[in-house]
Amino acid sequence: MIIVPESEIAALISAQDCFEAVEAVLAAMARDQAVNFPVIREALGHADALYGFKSGFDREAAVLGVKSGGYWPANAARGVANHQSTVLLFDPDTGRPRALVGGNLLTALRTAAAAAVSIRHLARADARVLGIIGAGHQAPFQLRAAAAQHPFERVVAWNRTPERLQGLAEIAAELGLPFEVVSLERLGAEAEVIVTITSSFAAILRDAHLRAGTHIACMGTDTRGKQELEPEILARARVFTDEIAQSISIGEAQHAVAHGMIGPADITAIGAVITGGHPGRCVQDEITLFDGTGIALQDLAVASRVARLARERGVAQQVGV
Ligand code: NAD
Repeated sequence: MIIVPESEIAALISAQDCFEAVEAVLAAMARDQAVNFPVIREALGHADALYGFKSGFDREAAVLGVKSGGYWPANAARGVANHQSTVLLFDPDTGRPRALVGGNLLTALRTAAAAAVSIRHLARADARVLGIIGAGHQAPFQLRAAAAQHPFERVVAWNRTPERLQGLAEIAAELGLPFEVVSLERLGAEAEVIVTITSSFAAILRDAHLRAGTHIACMGTDTRGKQELEPEILARARVFTDEIAQSISIGEAQHAVAHGMIGPADITAIGAVITGGHPGRCVQDEITLFDGTGIALQDLAVASRVARLARERGVAQQVGV
């Protein structure tokens, strides 16, 4: 088997590689060729940590594996990232291990790629203003990936603590995009694509904030109880997701479903749009929403791509198993 440590990942894989890997596995899911297995997530009762694993199998790409890790809140004080994860890939024919791959950067890249896939397939072609809500670790990846997939001309952004938006402003400048810190009202009125990437537990964006035809990639809500959008938005939007089971249980749709405003049948897996089974945006002026919950198959798809690139470039560390 090979090892691709965290320190090697940035030099090996691009945002475009991740976009292609995530788009392909979402399509494989729509063809019933790829499946996520039930997620385990537990409080360790040690170091205040949350630990778990997500696994899945993509039959088309012959990718089988598990991402394991979680959240260690005291890590930052030690100069280590709080979120830690590692991917283990197996040979689906024999069950033998194929690769151990650092999962931290890959998690950020695959999450940004999933939002970018939704923008590519669901945003209006004439959208020019990107809105970002959030300014944490994940936000810069979202900005770069969105800008790489769509010809935005301007970025407006909001964060609970506006001073944290300086990092996004610098990335926008690097990308040649004018950048402005705005109120939520202005963001909703001006942005034609909105990416939400916060760890909020209460709605931030209101239905009344939105203009017609907006596409929202709602990426922050990945746990029971988290929330970024007023459920009325989901009630009137055309709702897509990476996986319907996760959308209604831990994704943004959990709230609209709990309020009886929508049901699982109102949510479409975005893979169906990628494969052409669903038209995606049906009316120019409708709101489209992607509930990006984060699935194992996305992690495995980008880890498998990294493992392949590491082998091709001769930088994979071989270990005997
Ligand atoms: P972070 O801790 O670095 O940043 C958190 C962000 O949320 C900051 O901008 C902060 O200001 C904002 N925030 C926190 N509480 C808020 C509140 N009550 N109201 C408004 N804003 C609030 O986190 P991150 O790594 O950038 O991740 C952001 C979110 O995305 C987290 O919830 C994380 O779990 C989620 N996430 C989802 C996926 C996925 O696949 N969907 C993948 C990775 C991370």
